[in-house]
Amino acid sequence: MTTAELLLLGIVTFILIDFAAGRVIDYLNESNKDKPLSPVAAEIYNPDEYAKSLEYGTAKYKVEMLTSVISTVVMLSAIVLGWFAWLDEVIRDRFSNELLITVIFIGVLIIVSMLGSLPVGYYSTFVIEEKFGFNKTTKKLFVADAIKGLVLSLAVGLPLLALIALVYQELQSSFWLVGWLLVSAFSLFMFVFGTRIFLPMFNKLKPLPEGELRSAVEEYCKSQGFPLSKLWEMDASKRSTKLNAFFSGMGKVKIIGLYDTLIAKLTTQETVAVLAHEVGHYKRKHVYTMFAFSNVQTLVIFGLMGWLLSNPNLSKALGSDTPSFHLSILAFFMLFTPVSTVLGLINNSFSRHNEYQADQYSIDTYPGAREHMYSALKKLSVESLSNLNPHPVYVAVHYSHPPILDRLANLKK
Ligand SMILES: [Zn+2]
Repeated sequence: MTTAELLLLGIVTFILIDFAAGRVIDYLNESNKDKPLSPVAAEIYNPDEYAKSLEYGTAKYKVEMLTSVISTVVMLSAIVLGWFAWLDEVIRDRFSNELLITVIFIGVLIIVSMLGSLPVGYYSTFVIEEKFGFNKTTKKLFVADAIKGLVLSLAVGLPLLALIALVYQELQSSFWLVGWLLVSAFSLFMFVFGTRIFLPMFNKLKPLPEGELRSAVEEYCKSQGFPLSKLWEMDASKRSTKLNAFFSGMGKVKIIGLYDTLIAKLTTQETVAVLAHEVGHYKRKHVYTMFAFSNVQTLVIFGLMGWLLSNPNLSKALGSDTPSFHLSILAFFMLFTPVSTVLGLINNSFSRHNEYQADQYSIDTYPGAREHMYSALKKLSVESLSNLNPHPVYVAVHYSHPPILDRLANLKK
């Protein structure tokens, strides 16, 4: 067996294992709903709501199952039948500039995968979310979102990719370091300014009007020495009834955004208790450690790429005798699947741990937060029909937040 064949076998094996493990974990989670619930659950849902939450979980489970079967079959066909190599050849016949070939190749993949995900997105929004009363998105808004999303990923992703490919072409030996610095600088920029630049393209953001809520939030932030540069209300209700709030930025550019749906459903104290939790993520340095950790992960990726990317067998594994940056990088990330699974588990575990700390921060710094946080979390679960009984393995793989009952139990301690 040649090295390229061995790599191809590795890629196919990883995809199959990933698919099989994913389905087993989904199945465990789906079966777990028959497990008896704790008495706290009765405080959250009435029997009707509970039945509805199970039905919602099952509907999402079925879509996930179908989607993963289709995407795995398409992916395996593309690899084994050499579609990636074929696309590379088609572009190569018409263009000679290597950088341009890379950009067109990745551009086509972005467009194809976006178009491919549209039917599922459409079904999830207009059939499932609609059926359970969450959906507010109009068809016109759905199309506008899809177009904007595609244009943005091409406009932002392709220049960045071209720059990295250029660095690879010009600086073979220090590619890993310069590439990593580029990506880190970009993610720092997105971290600080991303929300401010891109969110207004999708939503209307207006300053939270003067009044009880604004005063309470400002007073709390001031008491914590947490300077806010913006306090926004966002028109999330044009897409969904689900509630949320977000924080973004670092240093002096900190933004809090409240969904209008959240403002409508939570009391002032509940909202401040939730925001106090978010402030806790800054004060306990979670925001910075998670950011640093993700940059370390990128460093590992670039280190491995610097070592492996020049090997022509990567492109060969996908069926092409002409080594190229884009085919090598594609094969590289397919082979990287096991590592990224492990990194994902570590990330989620860190994040769930941080959630408890942030809840604790809210309790320690906002009077009455224990009760207000408790009632806010209950409302948030009902309004999104959260799964009360997720399987522990499913939680380890998919949950960045602890399951709701664990969090409530922790608040009661
Ligand atoms: Zn949190």
